[in-house]
Amino acid sequence: MGSEYEDLLDEIYSNLPKKQSTGERFEIPKFEYFTEGNKTIVKNFKAVAEKIRRDPQFISKFLTKELAVPAEQQGERLVLQRKLAGNILNKKLEEFIGKYVMCKQCNRPDTHIEEMGNRLRNLVCESCGAQAAIR
Ligand SMILES: [Zn+2]
Repeated sequence: MGSEYEDLLDEIYSNLPKKQSTGERFEIPKFEYFTEGNKTIVKNFKAVAEKIRRDPQFISKFLTKELAVPAEQQGERLVLQRKLAGNILNKKLEEFIGKYVMCKQCNRPDTHIEEMGNRLRNLVCESCGAQAAIR
């Protein structure tokens, strides 16, 4: 863990509302990836999806849209059809977690997404019971 990673975490936490805290710190997972030709391959895509308990398809769609790169899941991996430089993938992952995983009330990651019908979805917190509509 470099200090750059810590700074990034602090940045994320400072952007979230602070209410009660359990003192436990959620460790934000990171993608491990490499480039091969014109592709970027995320080695631990499935593991990250499991850690944050979100549908891999949903994460893949988010990345495709945000980065404007076609992506395909292949077993444990996600293959993106472009060379992606720097830390952009993990920045997007952190954005995703901030938006679709962390509870806005208690700042815990113990949440799930509930389909409300009519294409509406709520982020439901299992720690404090808060519900928030996802846009
Ligand atoms: Zn909560």
